[in-house]
Amino acid sequence: MHHDVAIIGAGAAGMMCAAVAGQRGLRVVLIEHAARVGEKIRISGGGRCNFTNARAGPQHFVSRQPGFARDVLSRYTPRDFTALVRRYRIAHHEKHKGQLFCDGSSQQIIDMLRAECELGRVQWLQPCGVRGVAREGSGFRLETDQGPLQARRVVVATGGLPVPKIGATDYGLRLARQMGLQVVSPQPALVPLAFAAEPWRPFAELAGVALEVRVACGGQHFDEDLLFTHRGLSGPAILQISSFWNPGDSLRLDLSPGNDLGEALRLAKLQSRQSLLNALGQFLPRRLAQTWVEMQRLPSDRRIAELADAKLKALGASLCAWTLQPTGTEGWRKAEVMRGGVDTAELHPATLEAHKVPGLHFIGEVVDVTGWLGGYNFQWAWASGYAVGMSV
Ligand SMILES: Cc1cc2nc3c(=O)[nH]c(=O)nc-3n(C[C@H](O)[C@H](O)[C@H](O)COP(=O)(O)OP(=O)(O)OC[C@H]3O[C@@H](n4cnc5c(N)ncnc54)[C@H](O)[C@@H]3O)c2cc1C
Repeated sequence: MHHDVAIIGAGAAGMMCAAVAGQRGLRVVLIEHAARVGEKIRISGGGRCNFTNARAGPQHFVSRQPGFARDVLSRYTPRDFTALVRRYRIAHHEKHKGQLFCDGSSQQIIDMLRAECELGRVQWLQPCGVRGVAREGSGFRLETDQGPLQARRVVVATGGLPVPKIGATDYGLRLARQMGLQVVSPQPALVPLAFAAEPWRPFAELAGVALEVRVACGGQHFDEDLLFTHRGLSGPAILQISSFWNPGDSLRLDLSPGNDLGEALRLAKLQSRQSLLNALGQFLPRRLAQTWVEMQRLPSDRRIAELADAKLKALGASLCAWTLQPTGTEGWRKAEVMRGGVDTAELHPATLEAHKVPGLHFIGEVVDVTGWLGGYNFQWAWASGYAVGMSV
């Protein structure tokens, strides 16, 4: 059977692209190897899908070519996707910093995309693996588990490598390389960071402690919550900065952002008879304050008035500029997205078509465009799916 467009991968970007192309009257086949579609949508946002970010702009994406996503993002905005969500009467709310979530369940977004595909008379091949893609005449021939098929254009929407147990594969990256395209080395991103066991031992006991911090690395910083874990650090602050962290880099943490702790402790000394621990406990979770004081070999029960100003200043400085070097990330099992992917230099910025292989497009997470935490990755999936759906 001859198709106008064959789309590999029925995730966020693939379904969006199929619906848009189908509704333009094109014959679209959507090929998905997993038994269920949109699994990453289903598990996203704690089951409520943080489906976009109202404030999304090109500055919220990491790529070897900063700003590459600008064109695509401008043609399908968070407002456009939210309008679609409203049309399907999916109740939603803004949670934090522009993040939009379903009130009910992520399944509503999957059902909406399936309904949009139906409107576009999209043909589904599922479950069906793609074994190979080759040029044939002016189009392509695909070898699939359900036999060969021909298509004028092929769209690769196979996503990133995180969470392999729900369908992630490196097929899109392998196909890109096979077609002679450069791939930016894929790395886990939006991922907890781990530390060497021995130096981390005192902090492992803090597992579960959370606080708002400023974290900086690689020229970027975030003011978000941090969470101590048994093996290292997690929470939104760490997930965000993980996209800017490279092996060997150190993180710099301010555990009490907005406060000059040295000065605050000096003032506390003048004004009160409280213990050092109680004074510090006004700025930090008590368990963290206790561990920190012990690590600095300071007597936690001593009255703050008995400590020298210089000691208090040094203590404050240590908390406002904690420098530490992760040994690695928690890997693909815990990562929310993949950093890296098909090099954007290989793709046309408006149509995401490979310069070297006319008719072959890449969309979604398989491309070297990685959003921050907070609905940006889905916005890239919708916008890139839309751009290609409109251009094929
Ligand atoms: C736990 C978790 C929570 C997340 N929460 C959010 C969130 O709240 N907000 C947000 O913006 N982002 C979130 N993300 C990221 C977001 O899910 C992805 O960025 C987004 O799904 C990428 O869309 P995609 O279509 O490119 O890839 P996917 O949605 O992963 O879809 C790719 C599809 O391709 C299929 N496939 C792979 N290989 C083949 C093959 N060889 N043949 C056929 N099919 C194939 C896969 O089975 C899959 O269905 C989260 C990710 C995770 C892991």
